[in-house]
Amino acid sequence: MRCPYCRHPESRVTDSREADEGAMIRRRRSCRECGRRFTTVEEAVLAVVKRSGVSEPFSRAKVVSGVRKACQGRPVDDDALALLAQRVEEAVRSTGCAEIPSHEVGLAILGPLRELDMVAYLRFASVYRAFDSLADFEAEITALRALGDDPQPVPRVESRGAAPGPEPAHAAPGDDLVGAGSGP
Ligand SMILES: [Zn+2]
Repeated sequence: MRCPYCRHPESRVTDSREADEGAMIRRRRSCRECGRRFTTVEEAVLAVVKRSGVSEPFSRAKVVSGVRKACQGRPVDDDALALLAQRVEEAVRSTGCAEIPSHEVGLAILGPLRELDMVAYLRFASVYRAFDSLADFEAEITALRALGDDPQPVPRVESRGAAPGPEPAHAAPGDDLVGAGSGP
């Protein structure tokens, strides 16, 4: 790193510390020629590019905070969230790209979150994929059922003594599908 004052090519590191939750390292340097001090920043190569074009270092903490909202009231603890964020980072890094669009981070979240908690997954997916109708939820739930790994009984299906047909979702807007997802 050349000295910004005298352009001398050698400097000595006098201090080194992490910043931005470990996403970057700041180094305080002293020029070996003129003795003046300057700071360099070493940043993670993995950058997330938002739709606005702004890029920022990938952050597990941001993955956790984004997913935590979807997990409100669900039996998901911090360890599980940390593990999820780690899996997301591994998936994203395995693409080998230095810059990834933020929606690909969202994509990488969907799989691990689905394994973690179906309801949280559905909440997250509904925002991330901008569900705007019951039909979107129905399609997603149908896909989830087809995977066959729903570990929980379906909540709040009222039996009204009618024929136990397999079509509870077509009754009316605001029925069970939405109620089951939003919680108290
Ligand atoms: Zn210098």
